[in-house]
Amino acid sequence: MSIFDGPDGHAVTSHFIDGAWTTPGGTTFPVRNPLDDALVAEAAAGGVAEAEAAVAAAAAAFPAWANLAPGARQELFLKAADIVERRTEELVRLMAVEGGASRAFSTFQIRLSAAMLRQAAGWGYQPAGDVLRSDTPGRMAFVTRKPLGVVAGFTPWNGAFYLAWRTFLLPMAFGNTTVIKPSELAPLSAGLVHAEILDEAGFPPGSFNVVTHAPGAASAVADVFFESPAVRCINFTGSDRTARILGERAGRSLKRMVLELGGFNPVIILDDADIEESIKAVAFGAFLHQGQVCMNSRKVYVARPLHDEFVARLADRVRALKIGDPTDPDVVIGPLIDDRAVEQIATRVQDALDRGATLITGGKADGRLYQPTILTDVPADAICTTGADETFGPLLVVEAFDDPEVALRDAQDTPYGLSASIMTRDRGRGLDMAQRFDTGIVHVNAPTMASEASLPVGGVKHSGWGRSGHYAIEDFTEIRMTTMSSEPGRYPF
Ligand code: ADP
Repeated sequence: MSIFDGPDGHAVTSHFIDGAWTTPGGTTFPVRNPLDDALVAEAAAGGVAEAEAAVAAAAAAFPAWANLAPGARQELFLKAADIVERRTEELVRLMAVEGGASRAFSTFQIRLSAAMLRQAAGWGYQPAGDVLRSDTPGRMAFVTRKPLGVVAGFTPWNGAFYLAWRTFLLPMAFGNTTVIKPSELAPLSAGLVHAEILDEAGFPPGSFNVVTHAPGAASAVADVFFESPAVRCINFTGSDRTARILGERAGRSLKRMVLELGGFNPVIILDDADIEESIKAVAFGAFLHQGQVCMNSRKVYVARPLHDEFVARLADRVRALKIGDPTDPDVVIGPLIDDRAVEQIATRVQDALDRGATLITGGKADGRLYQPTILTDVPADAICTTGADETFGPLLVVEAFDDPEVALRDAQDTPYGLSASIMTRDRGRGLDMAQRFDTGIVHVNAPTMASEASLPVGGVKHSGWGRSGHYAIEDFTEIRMTTMSSEPGRYPF
């Protein structure tokens, strides 16, 4: 069965548990195209029973998956990468109609996903531990690295396809089995399509499970994850607002969490920067996926001598971006995910304008299509510039600076610490400044969203805990220390 085989052009989806699709039927919820509310899918509205069944299947599959030879696991991941590439056109369409993703963004995600699958395919061969030195005569000591058990993942709607892989693939590559709960806004591209791909690749039943739920029903499903002893880690990608709720819940059940949250992601353009390169990096970094990615640039600090030219040329580039239906391959700016997102950006732009900001370009909505927007002269107390809360949409604040040290200080005056960029021709100067950024990621001469499958993504402060790439081994495994003594012990009593 394919999740796309529904009537009237829309899909009818069920849960994927223990290697099989559950029988369609029961309560469903609509998944709609954010552009025009067209029905994309009727998805199964799961709850406690489905979540429990999925956790039980993952727990039962764990011993065999954890002990599968690295070469056998490698073959599965490599097959999945090939299937992702084979299904490119269908995935591009799915991400457009379900999430509003432009072709540029969906193909970016597909490339990264296939690359990550191929890299993760080799991770099973990483050393399984270390031999340690002991001060006790005749004692041998070593640590072995073991998978945790079941990892439950919350996958987001925004970079849905790639971020879902990142949520469950890293744990699986290190021998964990998984249950994921995709965002109710994009359950197909944030999990169900992955189930089809892994099923076709031949992943063993129970190693990967997906449970979908209606809006408002997330916490019942989440409770099953938190309460189940088999679930050893919750891997959440989303907003810090929801992470706080989940973090409190994790505290009560003493559950390990990995959190990939938002960012404010400043760019500092020093006076010796290549202005053309800076414009390209900022246009891409701020407006890819309509500014709905955790690593989008939210604020640019430009050396005063470059400021006016930078703003004028950036605005020209941004005005030329085609806005509209993302199934049109030339469209770069698709719709925002929902009305709440449109309202957030509209309110914040208005707040800045009311306080005296200058609108350089954008600032208007046509339905959920919001023009990419640049503001300057934004007073320090406007919500969009304080860094206290990310505006999850196509809004960029540009500010001139005289002293790079002040720009560096101001750029870090935010509770977030995900990504940052510095543009300069003086690489030594850039590197020096980069080392003083309190973020999980910093780039010299690249956008704040310069993602590569192999490079670790993750934040500090309110941007989260944990890292992707092969560093995820720290998050999704634990070590067991073993000693073996060959001489009689010496005891004080
Ligand atoms: P959004 O940007 O859509 O507000 P978030 O990133 O905050 O989304 O989180 C969305 C994810 O968190 C979704 O998978 C949603 O189902 C889940 N979620 C939201 N509220 C809760 C809750 N109270 N308990 C558990 N999960 C929740």
